[in-house]
Amino acid sequence: MYTLKFDEDLCKTCTTCDCLVMCQYMDLDIDKAKEEIMKISEGEDSFVLQDCVTCYGCEEYCKRGNHPFYLITERREEKDILTSPRAITKQWINIGEPQGKYKVGEIKEKMLSFGFMPEFLRWVKGRLFEDIMPSFIFGQEFFCNVVYIHFANTSIIKERLPMVMDNFRKLGVKEVVCMHDECYGSFASLAPAYGIEVPFKPIHYFEYLYNRLKELGDEVRPLNIKVAYQRPCSSRLSPDKHHFVGDIMKLIGVDLVERRYSNKNSLCCGEVLRMASGYELANDVQKRNMDDMVDSGAEYCVFNCPACYAALAQKVAKKGIKPIHIIGLCRMAIGEK
Ligand code: SF4
Ligand code: SF4
Repeated sequence: MYTLKFDEDLCKTCTTCDCLVMCQYMDLDIDKAKEEIMKISEGEDSFVLQDCVTCYGCEEYCKRGNHPFYLITERREEKDILTSPRAITKQWINIGEPQGKYKVGEIKEKMLSFGFMPEFLRWVKGRLFEDIMPSFIFGQEFFCNVVYIHFANTSIIKERLPMVMDNFRKLGVKEVVCMHDECYGSFASLAPAYGIEVPFKPIHYFEYLYNRLKELGDEVRPLNIKVAYQRPCSSRLSPDKHHFVGDIMKLIGVDLVERRYSNKNSLCCGEVLRMASGYELANDVQKRNMDDMVDSGAEYCVFNCPACYAALAQKVAKKGIKPIHIIGLCRMAIGEK
């Protein structure tokens, strides 16, 4: 059985307790944060288990390599503290169930993973991907399953993720370019945290895009526009890749505007909050986030996650800000859109 690697001793000696002190949805000082994380670690009740909105932020805030959010998720499941109504949780579990309806393109040693996001079947095209397409993988059989940490359900991940790894193993793929942070986070953070073996090298698609744009050299033209970036919750599982947003914007001549809610202070798109905490908080967070984009003078809102796009694209457009996925923005810079 797969067990979470969480080191309680690291918390005992921690002098910052950033995991909970920096939480944007709860207000804890260091002493209280220490008390609560120790309670959670020792399996005791904590209000954090009720109030956490599953933004994944604490996975980034902990600088000691511990996994506070995975631990919160474990404890919630043990104590049957649901984050959403049981019927919705069940519906999501059914959606991700392997049913033999996956799609696999040309099998090569290096392939793209679209996870279970059909948007990528339409978005991934053009010269940025000409050296790798049509080598892609899509469907539940290759689904990273990270979404279930939003639903306090690590047991389904522990059951399904090893099977997903076996499916990759059977393909013989050596490198997987993950088109979604959740996939990358699953293979580079979640699986190792549980001791689940990953039989390939995961590559974040930001890194792929950055390198591809550099290869295209002079074909890349500065866009000279101001953009706000909507950072998704799943990006918190790979904070070491976040710098590529700035790197890519620099390469394509885009001004990434200063915002109150950016980088570590990024706000959720609202989709998860709606499921985990209801409409009132989701609407409030969306409003603060979009007002911040407007105040920053952004002309475009650049998305990374298709779910963030679905939640916010129309709403930012109504505020006069053009929504675009980062792939579309990069394609614009090489004259494709
Ligand atoms: S989880 Fe990380 S940040 Fe939080 S108390 Fe433990 S070591 Fe410190
Ligand atoms: S996941 Fe987000 S809301 Fe939950 S404790 Fe961590 S930082 Fe706070």
